[in-house]
Amino acid sequence: MRIRVIEGKCSGHARCAAVAPDIFILNDDGYLDMPETAVASENEALARRGARACPERAIEVIED
Ligand code: SF4
Repeated sequence: MRIRVIEGKCSGHARCAAVAPDIFILNDDGYLDMPETAVASENEALARRGARACPERAIEVIED
């Protein structure tokens, strides 16, 4: 599974980082600008929860 942020959609709510701070690492401006990133299998459930927590639906989950 991979995750990526859809360009221009992140509004800096930081909900994703509140759920999974080791997966969703915000930049210095408080936005997520993560390129497509592989998620370790043991972190998949947490990554999904973080993606669901985003009110902008800015995080896309890509199933391999
Ligand atoms: S991806 Fe969503 S939850 Fe995460 S910082 Fe951006 S807007 Fe907030």
